[in-house]
Amino acid sequence: MNKLYDKRAVKILFDTYWTIDRWSQHRTTHPSDLAYAIAKGVMFPSTIVSHDQTLINLQKLCGEISPEQVGNAFLASLSARELALRSALGSFAVGRHQKPHKFEWHPSRGSCCRYCSFYLEEEKGHPADLNVLNFERLKWGGVRHNHAAYEVFDLEQFLKLPTAKPTEADVIILKKIFLAIRQLEPSCHAGHFEKAISGIFPSSRNERCQMIEILSLAGVIAYPGYRNYFDNGQVPHEKDRFKDIGYWKSPTTYWRARDGINLNGIAEYFPAYLSTLVD
Ligand SMILES: [Zn+2]
Repeated sequence: MNKLYDKRAVKILFDTYWTIDRWSQHRTTHPSDLAYAIAKGVMFPSTIVSHDQTLINLQKLCGEISPEQVGNAFLASLSARELALRSALGSFAVGRHQKPHKFEWHPSRGSCCRYCSFYLEEEKGHPADLNVLNFERLKWGGVRHNHAAYEVFDLEQFLKLPTAKPTEADVIILKKIFLAIRQLEPSCHAGHFEKAISGIFPSSRNERCQMIEILSLAGVIAYPGYRNYFDNGQVPHEKDRFKDIGYWKSPTTYWRARDGINLNGIAEYFPAYLSTLVD
């Protein structure tokens, strides 16, 4: 896990934000430790980037990355439990469809932009904490895949990593994950799916939840009519899809086992493995 980064620097990052099983209340880093982790590219000085510049950066990054690149990295993350490789697929899948816009308050949350979840505080010039983003990225494969600022951070870090090469073991794991959907009752939701794949690859529950989110945001598992995160125009027919099933992001909330996998999504992100994954 996290073999792509310096072990001590990752420990410094994790110790800043996490105790044994929960978020740390203090979130402080000793200055010499912080300097070490920054030198290793695991922690970062605070930065100020505006909402509009973030969107410009996002568009540029998505233009430099191919769907297959992030798909390969996702695959390669599975057997090695290399969470840094897993996150970029989610960030890219959302970020590539983010349209230019001006900051507009979220109608219910208020503290962020309704279109890209950019924080109001940061729009007012408060520095962003990139370290908490990297913590989430390395611990769970990312959480804020629908936040433009996270997408930019994640994709920038992704481009610094060596090219990921999936192994046969990785492809078998993803195939087993897809096969697990077929064993579920048609009405099962993402929570059931998470439990069904718990023994398939080395992972914690939260890692599996985020992995399902990523597959869902990318439309690899998708409800009928799903095109991308910003296009819920054909949100499904049945009312039961809208029932609260926890903290999942919108496309995952609507997905049911009967919807299964989406060949178009698999062909887009895993083209070299399509026939193996779906035969
Ligand atoms: Zn925005």
